[in-house]
Amino acid sequence: MTAAAMMSTSLKEEKAAITLQIKGDGPIGGIVAVSDSSANIKGYVHNPLVYLPLNSKGKYDVAGAVGSGYLNVIKDLGLKEPYVGYVDLISGEIAEDITYYYVYSEQIPTVTALGVLTNATQIVVSSGGFILQLMPGADEETISFIENKISTIPPVSELLAKGRSPEEIIDMILAEKDVKIIDKSPCRYFCNCSRERMERNIMTLGKEEIMSMINEDHGAEAHCHFCNRKYWFSEEDLLKLVKG
Ligand SMILES: [Zn+2]
Repeated sequence: MTAAAMMSTSLKEEKAAITLQIKGDGPIGGIVAVSDSSANIKGYVHNPLVYLPLNSKGKYDVAGAVGSGYLNVIKDLGLKEPYVGYVDLISGEIAEDITYYYVYSEQIPTVTALGVLTNATQIVVSSGGFILQLMPGADEETISFIENKISTIPPVSELLAKGRSPEEIIDMILAEKDVKIIDKSPCRYFCNCSRERMERNIMTLGKEEIMSMINEDHGAEAHCHFCNRKYWFSEEDLLKLVKG
């Protein structure tokens, strides 16, 4: 979700959205994260009950949970068809796969770092990261300067633990350059599901399926994967949908 929030800043159109879809053969099954152009973010994993030992670096074994598979980056710019970028997962560590996506699919030299800080009961207390991209025509000197700097800074999770702000993290990498902050935008977790949206989902099932929900199940419960909200549709509600 942190990556989706950062990537959404490249969306110019007001109603645009970006979806990161990771599908792997690991125990977590898959990950979906969606952000609109105002960095309203939501997300879910297919199987949230995954327990793996920490990896050799003492961190959450994200790669082990994800397994091998692919990453889809879907940009819905409000046009007829969304733009879909696809790459195979190269590591299952999300930051590396996002980097690979940018380099391979968008041909933009990129460095991505992501970190999550959890407390003793494994509740997420903060999450952050950075995506650093070269402008077209960046010179070799700049590239090696950034590469050197990146290799010296601590992992993002450590920076978050120390309470470092995004500005401070940028400074750690680029302090010697002339850094200008040109924009800031807040982000938040927000699910835009609604009863109307669920009605539309049910209607896509088709008349026959809805009739069998009425006759066999005497109603239907629609469940939002993102926020877990439940919407109940009675026989009457379903009948109205069938009749349109
Ligand atoms: Zn929802």
